[in-house]
Amino acid sequence: MAFAQLQLSAPLARAVAEMGYESMTPIQAQAIPVVLQGRDVMGAAQTGTGKTAAFALPLLQRMLKHENASTSPARHPVRALVLLPTRELADQVAEQVRLYGKYTNLRSTVVFGGIDMKPQTAELKKGVEVLVATPGRLLDHIEAKNCVLNQVEYVVLDEADRMLDIGFLPDLQRILSYLPKQRTTLLFSATFSPEIKRLANSYLQDPVTIEV
Ligand code: AMP
Repeated sequence: MAFAQLQLSAPLARAVAEMGYESMTPIQAQAIPVVLQGRDVMGAAQTGTGKTAAFALPLLQRMLKHENASTSPARHPVRALVLLPTRELADQVAEQVRLYGKYTNLRSTVVFGGIDMKPQTAELKKGVEVLVATPGRLLDHIEAKNCVLNQVEYVVLDEADRMLDIGFLPDLQRILSYLPKQRTTLLFSATFSPEIKRLANSYLQDPVTIEV
């Protein structure tokens, strides 16, 4: 299936074309239409399958189509939160999100542990619509009141099995407790272990299951 069939907004279509993508990968062909419809997704897919675009493109599209309806004074509230287990993965995903969104006016940034919080804090204070993060550092920023997550509309739990392996479940539970109940939640995992299914049961609503 070609990207052209999706009728993405012009800024997204332009970015995709510039990256040289023509046809969708299997996870993209299955996930993008479902996410555009507003459904929650539980996807089995490894890194390298085109998973990032499979969630980033439809989320950006929805954010462009639906202005934030809230009356919050925050000019750029976080609307989409993407959680990953490691700084390397967070960095890679943030870079792809930046490329897909480069012709939109949506701002994004990434926060992860192991480095000084100050530059991250400065970025957060400017306001970002898309926040890519590792769980521990995100909690540090929440506790320092550097970011507010009460306007989040979209959450991606990426590499969820690895997040649980590292022991991030309590952090994830805390982070998710700060988010509005009314939201879209996407979970990607290499495997659907009983622990992953439990996580999905707790935090996803009537998800579409996609396995590639
Ligand atoms: P990911 O699995 O999201 O880490 O993506 C793996 C690599 O595939 C990245 O370098 C993407 O830029 C690239 N990619 C993603 N989707 C496509 C596509 N539809 N056509 C060609 N390359 C793609």
